[in-house]
Amino acid sequence: MSKVVVVGSYVVDLMSRTPHLPKPGETVLGGPFQMGPGGKGGNQATAAARSGSEVTFVTKLGDDVFGREALKHFTKEDVNIEYIKVDPDQSTGAALIEVDEEGENSIVVALGACGTISEAEVVEAEEKIKEADIVLLQLETSIEAVVTTVKLARIHGVPVILNPAPYQEFPKEILKNVAYITPNETEAFELTGIEVTDEGTALTAAQMIHDLGVDSVIITLGGKGAFLYTGGDKGELIPSFTVEAVDTTGAGDAFNGGFAHAISNGYSLKDAMKFANAVAALSVTKIGTAPAMPYKNEVEALLA
Ligand code: ATP
Repeated sequence: MSKVVVVGSYVVDLMSRTPHLPKPGETVLGGPFQMGPGGKGGNQATAAARSGSEVTFVTKLGDDVFGREALKHFTKEDVNIEYIKVDPDQSTGAALIEVDEEGENSIVVALGACGTISEAEVVEAEEKIKEADIVLLQLETSIEAVVTTVKLARIHGVPVILNPAPYQEFPKEILKNVAYITPNETEAFELTGIEVTDEGTALTAAQMIHDLGVDSVIITLGGKGAFLYTGGDKGELIPSFTVEAVDTTGAGDAFNGGFAHAISNGYSLKDAMKFANAVAALSVTKIGTAPAMPYKNEVEALLA
């Protein structure tokens, strides 16, 4: 079983359906309320663990009811919680999600504790990073945590996957020590200024990102699949699986967790992307983020 370390965010998803999204100053009576584990780090850790990897998740929670629920969730998922810090002075992060009848949403993410992971807190997990087969990062936490993780992974020769989501500015020199980068179209635009609309524009954006020092550039293209570029004048689209999509939230997280599992288990790049596409496709057939992540047997059945 491969060892995956995920350093990133945890937020509780607090979701309500509403007839329409409230205007400034307006109170709307919502429909059903749903609560569940979320955050890009937590979702990707869950996806990798359900895919079959041994996962350590490094994050920070508040000493509150949401933090305790998070620890229960990761324990149930067999994720190592040894490096999940509980900070009594902060709140657990929360995503306040409203979804209207058309499926349009409006989201406020208050990162809380996980937005302040310090260099020292990442260094505490150095032993786990050293033993890992792969380290998986997003940008939904402090840049200090991201930079420190990349530095430790480089020292110990552990490959890094960076999912640059949600996009925020970061020191581009770290990209020389990133083996795989997985932007979606929006994040590819933020990195390059290129509007990714098809395979041609994906290739141009991927070449620019590759020039920043990343060996393998993977641009996720929603229902189309994901575009792979490793150098030269060509890339390749690895097509998605056709499924009935009911909720695409967290598709990118499913893809990244699945990819981390497969690449750290020795799959070729293309096979790892196929595996990731399968994990992501299954995740969009269910409502929610972390709870919608599929298990290994479901992924294998889709790939068979
Ligand atoms: P999100 O922000 O909603 O988590 P994202 O924008 O980061 O998603 P996408 O590029 O939309 O990520 O999707 C990631 C992957 O999920 C795609 O590469 C594909 O494998 C899969 N996927 C997304 N939408 C669909 C779909 N409708 N059907 C099948 N697979 C899908």
